[in-house]
Amino acid sequence: MSSKLNLLNFDKAALQEWFVANDEKPFRAIQILKWLHQHGEFDFDAMTDVGKKLREKLKNSFEIVLPEVVVDNISSDGTRKWLFRLADGNCVETVYIPEKNRATLCISSQVGCGLNCSFCATGAQGFNRNLELHEIIAQIWLAHQLVADYQQVEGKIVKHLEKIISNVVFMGMGEPLLNYTNAQKVIDLLLDDNIYNLSKYKVTLSTSGVVPVLEQFCKTSDAALAISLHAGNDELRNKLVPINKKYNLQHLLSVCENYCNTRDRSVTFEYVMLDGVNDTKECARQLVKILQNIDCKINLIPFNSFENTLYKRSTDENIDIFSNILYKAGFIVTVRKTRGEDIAAACGQLAGKFQDRTSRSRLLLEKYKKEVAA
Ligand code: SAH
Ligand code: SF4
Repeated sequence: MSSKLNLLNFDKAALQEWFVANDEKPFRAIQILKWLHQHGEFDFDAMTDVGKKLREKLKNSFEIVLPEVVVDNISSDGTRKWLFRLADGNCVETVYIPEKNRATLCISSQVGCGLNCSFCATGAQGFNRNLELHEIIAQIWLAHQLVADYQQVEGKIVKHLEKIISNVVFMGMGEPLLNYTNAQKVIDLLLDDNIYNLSKYKVTLSTSGVVPVLEQFCKTSDAALAISLHAGNDELRNKLVPINKKYNLQHLLSVCENYCNTRDRSVTFEYVMLDGVNDTKECARQLVKILQNIDCKINLIPFNSFENTLYKRSTDENIDIFSNILYKAGFIVTVRKTRGEDIAAACGQLAGKFQDRTSRSRLLLEKYKKEVAA
């Protein structure tokens, strides 16, 4: 095994510390991180503003260890999905969604997820482990490289990150607030002017509501916040998003309200549209009632089906009726376009296929249906 350190595992503070411990100036850390992340450069010899002696020292101390690309699928709509194999054999997914005026990268924070939301392919795989900092940041680093290479093949040369990835969302596999130390380190690297230099409105952490950690996020993090709501009452939310049994809607929403008031930010509520489960007019009216004091936007997500799930996507007509009720009540509502369906681009679907443990979601849904019938 190599005795060198993986440079992708260093945030600014850790690299500055390394430089000081090695009798170098801490500002060098920013130079190196800028080369590595903003320019995608990992060849120390190409870092022209670093002296030769220091470059030799860096070459002897650091390397870049990346996951292996096992699947690289490009959908007919341009969505691109990768499955990356980590050193221990586990796989995680990353999805790239280019649009007219932006390009969003959806990253994973855990292998699997233990929160067991009944409509989620990642939840059906169960929890395996948290990702290390380098395993999360490598998804961004590799996506940057792979898309840049791809665009060169198409005859374009795009060098700056913001033209390749303008938005990053923690909406891949896993619950980022249960790997928060690393998720926040990634956010810090993404928002740093000298490193990724992304806007604080364009890096979004999505959570199903791990309230104690959310409180910490709300106090200190500059990233944007998305909450996976999916139901407007506790009874239904307990079934769809089981962490609601621990931290109920009132608790969750009071933290959101306080966040908007104290940080002058708004929240996006995500709401997966499940046919006959949470898509009635009554459900929409409940949302209007519980969200009226919160500065928010509501994002309706048509359910992305996966093998062995018994849920169905709401009809377009019901999504229209639902969104109209919210719109007329004064909310900003968007309906997420379904992208990359031909390449299983929704959260957890590809890794699920590789790990083949989706039968658990069928059992969960059968249990839920029995509970509803009882
Ligand atoms: N654990 C975090 C982030 C990852 S999930 C969270 O739950 O917010 C990212 C988003 O995808 C969440 O809003 C989640 O509810 C949604 N999602 C999961 N499975 C889905 C599916 N099959 N169809 C549509 N949206 C889904
Ligand atoms: Fe985990 Fe999010 Fe999936 Fe729920 S929706 S199981 S929290 S990844």
